[in-house]
Amino acid sequence: MAENDLMEKIVSLSKRRGFIFQGSEIYGGLAGTWDYGPLGVALKNNIKKIWWHMFVDSRDDMYGTDAAILMSPKVWEASGHVSGFSDPLVECKKCKKRFRADHIDDINLKETPCTSGKHEFGPVRQFNMMFKTHVGATEDETSISYLRPETAGGMFVNFKNVVDSIHPKLPFGLAQIGKAFRNEIAPRDFVFRSREFEQMEVEYFVRPSEWEQKFEEWRNVMISFIAAVGIRKDGVHELEVGEADRAHYSKRTIDFEFDFPFGKKELYGLAYRGDFDLSAHQDASGQNLKYVEEGQEPFLPHVIEPSLGVDRTVLAVLASAYTEDELGGETRVYLKFAPAVAPIKAAVFPLLKNKPELVAKAREVYALLKKEIPQVMFDDNGNVGKRYRRQDEIGTPWTITIDFDTLGENPDLLNTVTLRDRDTGEQKRVAISELLPLLMASIRV
Ligand code: ATP
Repeated sequence: MAENDLMEKIVSLSKRRGFIFQGSEIYGGLAGTWDYGPLGVALKNNIKKIWWHMFVDSRDDMYGTDAAILMSPKVWEASGHVSGFSDPLVECKKCKKRFRADHIDDINLKETPCTSGKHEFGPVRQFNMMFKTHVGATEDETSISYLRPETAGGMFVNFKNVVDSIHPKLPFGLAQIGKAFRNEIAPRDFVFRSREFEQMEVEYFVRPSEWEQKFEEWRNVMISFIAAVGIRKDGVHELEVGEADRAHYSKRTIDFEFDFPFGKKELYGLAYRGDFDLSAHQDASGQNLKYVEEGQEPFLPHVIEPSLGVDRTVLAVLASAYTEDELGGETRVYLKFAPAVAPIKAAVFPLLKNKPELVAKAREVYALLKKEIPQVMFDDNGNVGKRYRRQDEIGTPWTITIDFDTLGENPDLLNTVTLRDRDTGEQKRVAISELLPLLMASIRV
């Protein structure tokens, strides 16, 4: 399948089946924004739940935070975002269209042609990507605030609060999932580069001497997470960022890149940030952010930062899962989601919609499963073949059909159902009592 085709197919399936819609679509859309529909929300929540489990709950050295999106502008002055969080911008002198100077390529020019012939670009200037707003009723320089461009800031400014209230021992980390906003010059490639997106970030505080070992540990957690959400392993590449491209304070940065349908691009980042952030916030706020350890001079811990985008994860998961094959002589499209991320884990069908005894039994099985696994669905629309196609297309790993044998037409099969496997289409007879343990085991991370 041509890569462009794949992208078009993913975008169209996402809209058709209620995963992701263009933001403000009925008003013509708002560039760089995307709205998640019912299945998209479920997929995204599953991804975030797995992340929280692997990066926070399953460990004893991690603590959650949820900082405000609006922060004092001083936070972003100290972090360097006010002066330096910018991308190079060029404007066409004739049609006034704007481009990111380092992203101009043939595709970009073809997608955004000049309305007066050929683009004629002016000089490159720096464009700050933070969204500015005013807090309170006064709209002047004193009321300026920014929508956070990353969640990290909220964790650095709460470092002292957490140390003073929870007294964690080094090494320990803070974790946060939340929205971030960047006024990207050219949002593109579906949810890959948008202006409002979600991040899952960790700031892990270490003694300076142990950073290399902890960096390696987090690298491995990221690799395990990639596998757990079902991102194609052979599509992920680790790029050691060279000294010239690294921030001056970082001794090591790895970009995890993924073969997206539009090319190999950054999925996640892992950076060793030294004491750059705590030191900058200590200087700017005048607060002592040093950590006190017995028998040691107070010192500023160093930081390892695994930074993951939720939306890029969603896209990599969709691209990894999208499959076309032939089953029973028919071509079909299905999403080969890992059961743990699948929005719907199982769908329960009565073989026939107009047989009350089948419907009642199917409802009973549905209720039994739904109590333990909320992401279960009941479907009696159309014939069973059509229901299979629908569930395959949204990536439901299991479908369960209740037929006359379930009711005892064949006494040997009383209280058994047909369980169908999404990927192979294989069907087997399973006792109703076996369903829950089987499903639970398949969705466990
Ligand atoms: P890029 O170079 O692609 O702009 P970045 O290096 O600026 O990305 P970071 O600042 O490291 O990105 O942000 C951490 C993570 O947040 C990224 O790895 C990515 O998953 C996600 N992310 C960053 N910008 C966007 C965006 N505009 N839309 C969606 N996700 C984003």
